[in-house]
Amino acid sequence: MALDLATLSIVLFFISTIQAIVMLFIFRIVHNYPGMNYLLVSCFFTALSGLVFALRSGVIPDIPAILISNLSTFLAVFALNIGFSKFLKRDIAKKWLLTILVLFFITFFTFTLVIDDVSWRIILFSLLISGISFSNAFILLRHQLDSVRQTTRLAATVQIMFGIFFIVRGIFTFFHRTVNIFSPTPFQLLAFFISIATIIICSYCFIIMAIQRDHSEKKQADEQFRLIFETIPDTVLITSLETGEIHETNETFTEETGYSREEAIGKTPMNLNLWQNTDERDAFIEKMKEQGFCKNVEIHLFTKNRKKISVLISSNLMKMDHKMFIISVIRNISHNKELAKKLNTSEDTFKAIMEQSPVSFMLTNTNGDIEYVNKQFLELTGFLEEEVIGKNPRILKSGYQSKKFYGNLWKTITSGLQWKGEIRNRKKNGEIMWGYISLTPILDREGKIIRYLGVQEDISSRKLLEDELKIQARTDMLTGVMNRRYFIENAEKRLSEMNSIHEMAAFLMIDIDRFKDINDSFGHIMGDKAIQTVARQCQNMIKNRDLFGRIGGEEFGALIFAKNQDEYRKTADAIRYSVENINLSCEAEETIPLRISIGLSVYRPGEDTLETLMHRSDIALYQAKNDGRNRVAVL
Ligand code: GH3
Ligand code: MG
Ligand code: MG
Repeated sequence: MALDLATLSIVLFFISTIQAIVMLFIFRIVHNYPGMNYLLVSCFFTALSGLVFALRSGVIPDIPAILISNLSTFLAVFALNIGFSKFLKRDIAKKWLLTILVLFFITFFTFTLVIDDVSWRIILFSLLISGISFSNAFILLRHQLDSVRQTTRLAATVQIMFGIFFIVRGIFTFFHRTVNIFSPTPFQLLAFFISIATIIICSYCFIIMAIQRDHSEKKQADEQFRLIFETIPDTVLITSLETGEIHETNETFTEETGYSREEAIGKTPMNLNLWQNTDERDAFIEKMKEQGFCKNVEIHLFTKNRKKISVLISSNLMKMDHKMFIISVIRNISHNKELAKKLNTSEDTFKAIMEQSPVSFMLTNTNGDIEYVNKQFLELTGFLEEEVIGKNPRILKSGYQSKKFYGNLWKTITSGLQWKGEIRNRKKNGEIMWGYISLTPILDREGKIIRYLGVQEDISSRKLLEDELKIQARTDMLTGVMNRRYFIENAEKRLSEMNSIHEMAAFLMIDIDRFKDINDSFGHIMGDKAIQTVARQCQNMIKNRDLFGRIGGEEFGALIFAKNQDEYRKTADAIRYSVENINLSCEAEETIPLRISIGLSVYRPGEDTLETLMHRSDIALYQAKNDGRNRVAVL
């Protein structure tokens, strides 16, 4: 048999066909990875190329045979490119492949139907084939699948050499034009040889890659399974479905049951007396036979030292080497059960304490929304449970405390510290209540705040008493105006705060004239009444910003503020005049004359203290008395 093109074509056809058949077998053995179908397509086109070329002249005319053959070769390499990309998980270079495809058809159309130039056709065809080959090599070298790296390097080398050969062929044809393609040149023969060799090597590389990948993935899966098996905190037990014998266990099995792996393997759970209850075992086996799986079924087992444990079992059937096994994951829940029991008891106790407590309790989440309140809280605030759950404690706000006050409170508790203090709140009916409140953040094991506990003690009555005492401490009992101590305290404060540039102050010392006579003539009670009347009158005449108080006996003091000196005089005169006009009558319907004298002194900023100012006013009063009473004297 002569080594001509026809013979080589037939060789190519047979090799490719055999390869396609081998591929089909391989598909059945290894996993059918994406891209492997394209290899089959590639083999098909290679076989077609060889077949058509072999049948030319006789069955198929020369020109169509050449065109179909070339087209098939091109598509074979083309399919390989897509196949490699898909298999190696790389994006298909769509634009690049489309460009090559379009150029291929233009070349063929132009140099076959328009200009029948064999040489140019060969040159361009060779360049396009080498282009795709280099692209194939690129894909084979730039991928992330480590398991097939060696094989892809070999395939890439073959593709590069294939590409280089076609470039050389193109250049050679450029210089040595072919006239008749059917009298083969050594180059054409070589092209056939190399095509055959390349397609064989690349196909086998592809097959090896598939096997390597399959092997590596299985190994990885095995490794992952083993790791899960060993690290899972639950017991894993693989038993034969047929005999019940234990096939494999993990470390947790030994920890939970006390049986070592060696003791367990080959024995059945019955041999080891693991089942505590045969009814439970029968129900489990029944379920497995019926459903083929079970999930979180609670059963009870015995450990080696006969301790009863509660477990949750989840099982599935699995096939290994043509035998059926039950794989079970068993979770010990004895500890959880005990904990839950304890928690229930402690929660119940906790709730009982809260309900019985005379103190009001409130639990909020971290947003401050109320989650729980006790009976006492509801009684105290007047709200119903459904009116407060989910609400913010600000429903109790009375508006008494400032924003800054609440800001500080939140800052303290959100930083994990306890806040304690008195808060004035409002009940549902609007009534004011005072609470001594402690707010405590409740932390979890990691120290994260999960709730806030508010404990409130009703201190309203104490607060009322305190307020009462405070008022009493400040007020003169007879007249209800400021007493001496509080008046002096306030006056000193006001003088120290005074803006001397825009403000002026004056002190009025007021004394009832001939008061002893009133006492003597109308009695002490009437005297008291006179003091009260004068005090009320003076207080009414004093502006809000000014101060007025009882200094002692029938003597009063006033600290008044004004823009100029005239105003003091006017105010003092007005007070004196208004007292003069009071009609105070006694039981005998006799009118008691009420007159007062006033000593006025203007405050000298930087020079005066309240004491010196009052002293000067006293002297002025003395002056007024000396000058005949019922008058104002200024000093
Ligand atoms: P003068 O015009 O100089 O002020 O004469 P006066 O009589 O008012 O003299 P003085 O201011 O010294 O008298 C004060 C008297 O007021 C003495 C005291 O008996 C009486 N007194 C002081 N405190 C009270 C009080 O609370 N009730 C009554 N009824 N009398 C009081
Ligand atoms: Mg007097
Ligand atoms: Mg007096």
